[in-house]
Amino acid sequence: TTHLVWFRNDLRITDNRALHAACEDPQARVIALFIATPEQWKQHEMAPRQAMFIYQHLQALQHALAERGIELHYHQCDDFAESVDWLKDFCNAEKVDTLFYNKQYEINELKRDAALEKVIRESVICHAFDDSLLLPPGSVTTGNNEMYKVYTPFRRAFLSRLTESDSRSLPAPPARENVGKVVMHRLMPFDYPLADIGKDFAIGEEAARNQLRSFCREQVQDYLEQRDLPAVDGTSSLSPYLAIGVLSPRQCLNRLRTECPQVLEKTDGGAFGWLNELVWREFYRHLIVAWPKLCKHKPFVEWTDNVRWRHAPEELQAWKDGKTGYPIVDAAMRQLNATGWMHNRLRMIVASFLVKDLLINWREGERYFMSQLLDGDLAANNGGWQWGASTGTDAAPYFRIFNPTTQGERFDKAGRFIKAWVPELADVPERDIHQPHRWAEKHQRVLDYPLPVIDHARARKDTLAAFEAAKNRS
Ligand code: FAD
Repeated sequence: TTHLVWFRNDLRITDNRALHAACEDPQARVIALFIATPEQWKQHEMAPRQAMFIYQHLQALQHALAERGIELHYHQCDDFAESVDWLKDFCNAEKVDTLFYNKQYEINELKRDAALEKVIRESVICHAFDDSLLLPPGSVTTGNNEMYKVYTPFRRAFLSRLTESDSRSLPAPPARENVGKVVMHRLMPFDYPLADIGKDFAIGEEAARNQLRSFCREQVQDYLEQRDLPAVDGTSSLSPYLAIGVLSPRQCLNRLRTECPQVLEKTDGGAFGWLNELVWREFYRHLIVAWPKLCKHKPFVEWTDNVRWRHAPEELQAWKDGKTGYPIVDAAMRQLNATGWMHNRLRMIVASFLVKDLLINWREGERYFMSQLLDGDLAANNGGWQWGASTGTDAAPYFRIFNPTTQGERFDKAGRFIKAWVPELADVPERDIHQPHRWAEKHQRVLDYPLPVIDHARARKDTLAAFEAAKNRS
């Protein structure tokens, strides 16, 4: 019998449920496959640096599989529709009896898998696994069997279910017996723009696991105090690995439990605080399954679609370029543009600035983030944007608007983060760093730094009026 493991966003051999199941029968011939779909990725706005991250992990995966006697086949199709047709023929040609894959929950991915199962049903058995989440979508619901719309009760229910569920991590499969040396074909680079990923994120699941281990050993205790400070490396920086499945959430949970056995009891500690973020990740994925409209550019709260967004291409560009004249916003955007990663606090600040100060449609921000992020993930990104825009479930009410100056003062008091990314402000003293033009005027200095693109106090009023008018129109 031939078992085919179709890798998608689960680029690892440890704790991979589909791979593990495919290897259980020692007699089976096991082969693996990855299909690149550049046109589809374009539609999904995938960042060129994320494509590179995938490509490099695919090479690592090919090695790891070959050491276990499993050949990785690689093919490129334009989009999902084409991949279904191609895969059907591939299964025929390779005489595949059983297909193993880990589920993806975004709407196009779900449709693709349903279409595939339909066309190969006669000849191939399909085994799909819930692997990228601690608990499958639909398994954490209210008394009425509905998905929660608010995070805190979701988390409560989630944690009580989690303790009953099997969240053990699975080992990597052992080497197959009686197979010859696996041929390693060169994996052609994807027909997609590929960008440098810098040095912040090492390649390979071992590197990701090491980072996880040292974070849980050495840093997680201080997570609550440090997580909001962009000048400090206080968070795990594991999101790029989780987004493409180089690391599983079970591996995160189990490592956390090993290093901090009291995590579930000590709910005011750093370890619980970190677990809480893993649960946010789950919440957003459960949401897109319960409300697929979230994958279709729709807001969760429908009346918010009546907001009359401003058409302000120059201000949008200034936001993208990190040239808004608000130092914390600009530093954050420049970090994103240069590295593909940004602190969560900063993501909230820049999202609020785009939507609530510039009154620009949140979809512009969502799309731009996707095009830059190394950890781009539809559910988390959409969830974050709709939270910031007050259009989603559990959103901050629309009248809660961040003040970008005071946010900077609170979370980057001495301006260390700002100075690292906005060299034009190098001479501005600490206490003036959040309002550099005031300082420049007082000291008759000329700054090579833009004036604020908008006045926050006025913008705040306009935004409140725009949201109120939209609500009244509904
Ligand atoms: P840690 O603080 O160490 O958290 C551990 C893990 O938990 C993260 O790696 C991530 O997988 C998950 N996580 C943490 N916070 C959140 C959250 N608020 N929502 C969902 N999952 C979370 N995260 C992405 O992975 N991809 C995105 O495309 C993305 N877009 C975002 C857009 C906006 C506007 C906002 C406000 C948040 C977004 N986030 C996104 C969530 C969060 O900012 C990042 O996951 C986090 O900053 C990654 O850093 P870390 O790995 O050090 O996180």
